[in-house]
Amino acid sequence: GFSAFEDVPRAADIPVYAVTAAFSKDPSPVKLNLGVGVYRAEDGKPHVLNVVRRAERLLIDDTSRTKEYLPITGLEEFIKLSAQLVFGADSDAITEHRVTTVQCVSGCLSLRIGAEFLAKHYYQHTVYIPEPTYGNHPNFFSAAGLTLRTYRYYDPITNGLDIQGLLEDLGSAPSGAIVLLQACGHNPTGVDPTVEQWEQIRQLIRLKGLLPFFDCAYQGFVSGNLDMDAQSIRIFVADGGECLVAQSYSKIMGIYAERVGALSIVCKTADVASRVNSQLKLVIRPMYSNPPIHGAAIVATILNDRDMISEWTVELKAMVDRLVNLRGQLYDALRDRGTPGDWTHITSQVGMYTFSGLNEEQVAFLMKEYHIYMSPDGRINMAGLSKKTVPYLADAMHAAVTCI
Ligand code: PLP
Repeated sequence: GFSAFEDVPRAADIPVYAVTAAFSKDPSPVKLNLGVGVYRAEDGKPHVLNVVRRAERLLIDDTSRTKEYLPITGLEEFIKLSAQLVFGADSDAITEHRVTTVQCVSGCLSLRIGAEFLAKHYYQHTVYIPEPTYGNHPNFFSAAGLTLRTYRYYDPITNGLDIQGLLEDLGSAPSGAIVLLQACGHNPTGVDPTVEQWEQIRQLIRLKGLLPFFDCAYQGFVSGNLDMDAQSIRIFVADGGECLVAQSYSKIMGIYAERVGALSIVCKTADVASRVNSQLKLVIRPMYSNPPIHGAAIVATILNDRDMISEWTVELKAMVDRLVNLRGQLYDALRDRGTPGDWTHITSQVGMYTFSGLNEEQVAFLMKEYHIYMSPDGRINMAGLSKKTVPYLADAMHAAVTCI
């Protein structure tokens, strides 16, 4: 007989997963995956931090730990330490109890729960997201029924920030509009505002009464310094105004599959924060009731121990150094080949990604002729490279730019 689901149409492939699927099917021994945003070690293999292994061993041996349900808002220690990590341990907002933080299932659900909360409890339903941005950003907000608009972010002529366009677009946003900002290591462009530009953005946002919603998935992954990479957020919190912050531990601790994140909402008073917290529970409960414990316990174990924090930051810095080093190598390789174009953005962009400027046809050419896979927008995950593979990518880019 007919299926009850006979009329279900086929959905389009999700681009970044399609890249991974195509890569997996490619039998070529020289194939290179520069698509999906995960860190890889110099040998191309997935990388589990030593400090994470150490925390896991401690957790396993600690027989006082159980597998009982966490509260709806997650592991208490994790919540406290996550807020301190992003706002700073001496943050006034924390000591004045104006921040409410809840553990969420990864950065994704932190964004989604924030969006659902805003849809229910905030009067303005228009959200501005950067153009371009992380491919999943629009989904969190449209799934919550919010209305999406974009603001200019990337200038393809300079391969840098379009600060003029950004300020113009936010300047003409309706009062109270929600503004999604990436705290650092902007995905996919690798372009962040300078501290002075953040200050300009802050003034405009406060002047117009817009509501900033930070996505913080790469704290420490840009400079190797956790405080420095949180500066954008701290500038906004220091003025006493409100904001939301979604944190992800996926990249910064390399615990992608543990799905660990947190949502903080900075409010004007402790009383408001406490009421907001009560409503966040009502958002979370029908979704998954309460979050998983293991990943949050790993994070809390590390952040609770001075020695483990320093081990973590050393490992984080080593990852950042490798990425920065690869930027230099790729830039030099293109310069040595005399590849047409200005490639200085490879070294000026930051974090995990280079927004190469390669167009869709050139990306397709790299895939077909060189078995090199990346997102159609030309975003290169620098972590997928190594000293051995940079010359191969440079050859391929040189051919793509000169042939197409
Ligand atoms: N935000 C940004 C900017 C990201 O790049 C990503 C992952 O790629 C996420 C959020 C999602 O993070 P998570 O894996 O913790 O859900």
